[in-house]
Amino acid sequence: MTSWTDRYRSDRRNAPPAKLKALGLQGAVTLHDGPFADRVANAQETYLAIPADDILHGFRAEADLPSSGKPMTGWASRTSAATFGQWVSGMARLSAAAGNPDLAQRAVDLLKGWEETLPASGDTKMHVYGWEKAVCGLVDTALYVGYDEALDVLARVTGFAAANFDRTRAKATPADFAGDGPQLMLEWYTLAENLHRGYLAGGDPLLQEFATVWHYDDYWSLFEEAPAAGQPWPVPVWLHAYSHLNTFASAAAAYEVTGDERLLTVLRNAHDYFTTTQCYATGGFGPSEFTMPEDGSLGRSLEWRTDTAEIVCGSWAAFKLCSALMKATGEAKYSDWVEQLLYSGLGATTPVTIDGVTPYYQDYRLGISTKLPHWDAWPCCSGTYVQAVSQISDLIYYTADDGVSVALFVPSEVTFQHDGATVLLRQSTGFPEEDTTTLTVSLDRPTEFTLRVRVPQWTEGMSVRLNGEPVQLACVPGTWAEVARTWTHGDTLEVAIGAGLRAIPVDRWHPNRVAFAHGPVVLAQDGIWTSPLSAIMPWQATDLDRLLTRTGEGLHFDARQVGTNRQPVGGFLPLSEIPDRQPHRVYLDLDRPRII
Ligand SMILES: [Zn+2]
Repeated sequence: MTSWTDRYRSDRRNAPPAKLKALGLQGAVTLHDGPFADRVANAQETYLAIPADDILHGFRAEADLPSSGKPMTGWASRTSAATFGQWVSGMARLSAAAGNPDLAQRAVDLLKGWEETLPASGDTKMHVYGWEKAVCGLVDTALYVGYDEALDVLARVTGFAAANFDRTRAKATPADFAGDGPQLMLEWYTLAENLHRGYLAGGDPLLQEFATVWHYDDYWSLFEEAPAAGQPWPVPVWLHAYSHLNTFASAAAAYEVTGDERLLTVLRNAHDYFTTTQCYATGGFGPSEFTMPEDGSLGRSLEWRTDTAEIVCGSWAAFKLCSALMKATGEAKYSDWVEQLLYSGLGATTPVTIDGVTPYYQDYRLGISTKLPHWDAWPCCSGTYVQAVSQISDLIYYTADDGVSVALFVPSEVTFQHDGATVLLRQSTGFPEEDTTTLTVSLDRPTEFTLRVRVPQWTEGMSVRLNGEPVQLACVPGTWAEVARTWTHGDTLEVAIGAGLRAIPVDRWHPNRVAFAHGPVVLAQDGIWTSPLSAIMPWQATDLDRLLTRTGEGLHFDARQVGTNRQPVGGFLPLSEIPDRQPHRVYLDLDRPRII
């Protein structure tokens, strides 16, 4: 079997060589005990427990084939078309990341079962929305499981689509925010991604040609230049938020194929646009699924929207953009958004269940809010959930020609080859509850390489000790701290990370409307019979120690204010520790505390 990395080294790729390579989907990263390892284990169990015959039931019924499965519910009640390809993709990716052969086999079984329901014409009877995801499942099962027959199916279904899909390509507008156009072509501008990836995997020129049809040049070109400081981005808004981030995964795939440097600029600027104008403190974005104008709408949405951010799909799209930027540029800062979402976006959701109960929106409303799953079973986020979870181990370490980079502080280990030596790097950390991480090198012979550690933008000061001795290093936020030397077996690097308490205003129009965070971990105020925190105006973000005090248990903080007997001022804890349905507050108006 050809490994997927070998396939991607083909001459179909015209982008310059990647500065960094990720290792998680090659099975080189092992997660150690902690919430991320739990989440990955849970996703394997849940998605394997969905009966394959149920997933295929709707397709078989539509094709008049016998089925021993049961109908599914919610979005999958007629067929599972809306998320089928993402489930298959997630299983293929997770099998590679976690070394789970049962999931690999399940992905193949699902594709075989689905193929039997297809006519010779290659008509999947799917709308473009599900079709795009089916292409992803086919490409990923070829790439990560080595099931080459998937590429034959891809050629067949693409032949039909190329001859029959509506090519209106309606530009998204506030009245048609996902570019539906006349014929249910919603989110057509996300189609190029997996077609380009299919071309890179298999070399079928029809895939590249058809991918190019769906380039969203009208939107992408608006990101070729960043506006001057203080000027708004010249980008239309009130568009479908998740898919308008996800379209940059198509731009990233187009960059891989064409090597067009303008696309790399577009990716950098899209990252900056979303992180500086669209995101909440958690990294989530898109109230009511809209992109927001730069006029305080983001902050005002907290007054009334309950669907503050589509967390799971949004996390997945951000992971893809950031990971493409990490590889292409080698710059540490592109892991900051990933980290935010890992702790406070995806990482603060309640996992998808075997019945399809799925996290979707989070609610950051002022006053009080709760986490609730989506009202329908098996929505879009049940597809992106397994994909995003499968990506976690791929986001922690990267290798470069001269060494290895640690992008995230997660208990885990990675094995890689350098200069003919096999290096095992083990990361022991209690982060974020504790503020240090210890990196231990194991190798068969002394080897020279550079070990880089990401300096987060939020750090209040990072410092490093090598084998117990302080090292004088530039630790500039948003860059790498670098130690280049000949490493020997047992060397350790201890990193004091520098996380501290922060108050993050939602936007510049609402300087007193803040969420609290400790490093990347957004804190929620307990809202069960409590009063909100307030501050005497004007207040300074440096006054945080006067508002909150750490209790010593995990990342739990007590308010220094008293409140009333019946409603004391609530304490704060990580948003990830709040269970479904429990009242809490993510954002607070410090000058106008709201009690509902
Ligand atoms: Zn979703």
